[in-house]
Amino acid sequence: MAEETIFSKIIRKEIPADVVYQDDLVTAFRDINPRAPSHILIVPNVLIPTINDVTEADEAALGRMVTVAKKLAAEEGIADDGYRLIMNCNTHGGQEVYHIHMHLVGGKPLGPMLLG
Ligand code: 5GP
Repeated sequence: MAEETIFSKIIRKEIPADVVYQDDLVTAFRDINPRAPSHILIVPNVLIPTINDVTEADEAALGRMVTVAKKLAAEEGIADDGYRLIMNCNTHGGQEVYHIHMHLVGGKPLGPMLLG
């Protein structure tokens, strides 16, 4: 059984976060350390530690993460100029929180694809 992270507590509203969206499959909240004017994390409500742990049973939640990203990008007013969706995996990918999440970042030109 994977160990819960702070994201599970945010999903259950046990600790504060700026939650911008929640449904039966996913929760989205603003990153505590935003690297762009819009920086939102979209996470499955169930704990999946890394992308390596994803199974076919998770496809609905992972698909929902993308449709919610699209919706939130429009709400943030960044859809037309563009934005980036990022999912980090394990140490080489720079993953810090072991509950998979999609970063929605935008609101300024983001430069080359690999962020320093
Ligand atoms: P990772 O490097 O794992 O892809 O990204 C984890 C992200 O979670 C980081 O951008 C970090 O700022 C964010 N984060 C870590 N702890 C918290 C928290 O307690 N609340 C919020 N809102 N974001 C967090």
